[in-house]
Amino acid sequence: MREQAVAEYRETYRREEIPANYRGLVHLCFTFGSGIAVVIYSAGQLDQVQAAQWLTVPITLLYANLAEYLGHRFVMHRPVPGLGLVYKRHAGQHHRFFSHQHMELEDIRDLKAVLFPPVLMVFFILAFAFPVGITLSLLFAGNVGLLFVASAVAYFLNYEILHLAYHLPGDSWLGRRGLIRRLRALHTSHHDPSLMSRWNFNITYPISDLIFRTFRGSGASPA
Ligand SMILES: [Zn+2]
Ligand SMILES: [Zn+2]
Repeated sequence: MREQAVAEYRETYRREEIPANYRGLVHLCFTFGSGIAVVIYSAGQLDQVQAAQWLTVPITLLYANLAEYLGHRFVMHRPVPGLGLVYKRHAGQHHRFFSHQHMELEDIRDLKAVLFPPVLMVFFILAFAFPVGITLSLLFAGNVGLLFVASAVAYFLNYEILHLAYHLPGDSWLGRRGLIRRLRALHTSHHDPSLMSRWNFNITYPISDLIFRTFRGSGASPA
């Protein structure tokens, strides 16, 4: 029954949410092309980084892991005034398109249901990464701001690669990597409708899930 519901929703989503001129490959290239360009440009501007300044990298990555966790748990799975679109895209669309029994996309156009929309990515970089980077440059040093931007955008790209890998066929080259297989099992468990609003909110590495005790491992829900 659930299988039928996912199949029917996929048809509805493809018909109503994916424009005829949508190109999955263009979406993929935009995400990684622009993201990698920002990382390379920021890293290329670094100048004689001092030892303490390198600490910006692990701190940013931990902060990004927390932001990923909080955003997923409290914005993507709960309707927040002003951010309803994010809730609708994730809980209302992504989780209906992919259930724990149907994790794989079937067509390159299905990337629309996996990757962040380009407009949100541009918003994320312009409204979040750059202003914080500039603020850190003014407060500490230019290198700190640049390391923040490079690390934050690299983390976002890592998020997109991993989340995409979880929704590729399990026997794909990416899907067969040991670490990805284990992380994929956690996300598969999160896609179980009976578990999704309570467990495994980290999409990448379950650091915040472990801290906030929402790590459930990869077990399925009781039948
Ligand atoms: Zn997913
Ligand atoms: Zn979710």
